[in-house]
Amino acid sequence: MSGSLEGGCSCGMVRYRLTSEPLFVHCCHCLNCQRQTGSAFVINLLIETDRVELLAGEPQPVDVPRDDGSAQRIFRCPSCQVAVFSEYGRPEVRFVRGGTLDEPSAVTPDVHIFTRSKVPWLTLPGDTAAFDVYYDLRTLWPPASLERLDAILALRGDG
Ligand SMILES: [Zn+2]
Ligand SMILES: [Zn+2]
Repeated sequence: MSGSLEGGCSCGMVRYRLTSEPLFVHCCHCLNCQRQTGSAFVINLLIETDRVELLAGEPQPVDVPRDDGSAQRIFRCPSCQVAVFSEYGRPEVRFVRGGTLDEPSAVTPDVHIFTRSKVPWLTLPGDTAAFDVYYDLRTLWPPASLERLDAILALRGDG
């Protein structure tokens, strides 16, 4: 991945820049993501929270119920309400929504997850890992991303 990844909301109040490449890129086909986006799937760039530099605006957290009873914190532009990133119970990691990048085509999913609820008219590329539900980070993430993950876990004291 080359160059900087920048993006923002629809009205321009929120602008962000990723200061490094993401840890991993998910394409999630779960029903929560379909409902939240009103689309067939979501593209999430997983990256350390401190590598998401806010250039403008202050995205506001909104806790959204998920089917399993938990809540997902989604950060939205306070004005146009477009969701720019979310958090899944781990504040050190952001899930940046790929569609809010200035150039969404700059990223390609590293993995497709929750394909059990994938819409049937969508055919996935055969050369990208795909899982009915989830997957094992330790076997799929590149070593550099696992090192970064270990740094996050060490910060938390998770070991
Ligand atoms: Zn906005
Ligand atoms: Zn999902």
